[in-house]
Amino acid sequence: MNYNYFDIHSHLTESRFEGARDEIAKEMATQGIGTISIGVDTKESQAAVDFANKHENVFASIGQHPVDNKEELFDEDFYQRLLDQNKNEIVCIGECGLDYYWPKKELLDGERDAESFATEKGRQRDLFVRQIDFAVKNSLPLMLHVRSYEDADAHKDAFDILDEKQKEHGGLVRANFHFFTEGPEIAKEIVKRGFTVSFPGVITFADLDKTIQAVPLESMFTETDSPYAAPKPFRGKDATPLMIREMVQKIANVKERNKQEVQVALVKNVEDFFNI
Ligand SMILES: [Zn+2]
Repeated sequence: MNYNYFDIHSHLTESRFEGARDEIAKEMATQGIGTISIGVDTKESQAAVDFANKHENVFASIGQHPVDNKEELFDEDFYQRLLDQNKNEIVCIGECGLDYYWPKKELLDGERDAESFATEKGRQRDLFVRQIDFAVKNSLPLMLHVRSYEDADAHKDAFDILDEKQKEHGGLVRANFHFFTEGPEIAKEIVKRGFTVSFPGVITFADLDKTIQAVPLESMFTETDSPYAAPKPFRGKDATPLMIREMVQKIANVKERNKQEVQVALVKNVEDFFNI
């Protein structure tokens, strides 16, 4: 299939799209829009794969989110089986990573003490490391969810873990920082390591121009994180991958490049990185 746009991170499997998701995927196909449906645990990973199997323009990422569904560890046997049976649909591992927003907030609100905060960070680290090893073993890239809060620097810890893994495995460690809304300094740290970022709808209504300028066109993607964070002029609505052109237009404006040219480059990034 020839794509005009690609939304590399969406959750159309969420229950609010019940009865609508297949229509959305068909409309996307008509407009040449592809997406990667993202898993956050075993159930949602299976749902993402099932959805991908129904639509040529939908692919799947499987894995365990750092804070969604804390009951689950990363069940490697389950994920390996799913992967082996759906090699053409699964293009990525995640979303996985480190989320310090909630535990730090709980610490500040007195719902957690320092010791339990440290334990939670350790739990997230183990979960993350297991998925990096799994991605390397299967030669797949990682879809990273990394969220810092106040002085709880998840980015620094993620870089430390990834640096260690890069020392071990070199270029086999490939990673995209999803929902990237940080400043240019962190963007540069990511690009320096050969990793990529995906920009959400937030770039259409918050000033992230300096961040966009700090990332070369070949190191970025666009995403909706559907149903969250709809871009301008759709704010307040459930986001769908049909809104993805707004992010491409914004990047073209900030980079002062021809939109068509940016559009083509961003699709090529997806095809190269995810082997689609
Ligand atoms: Zn997500």
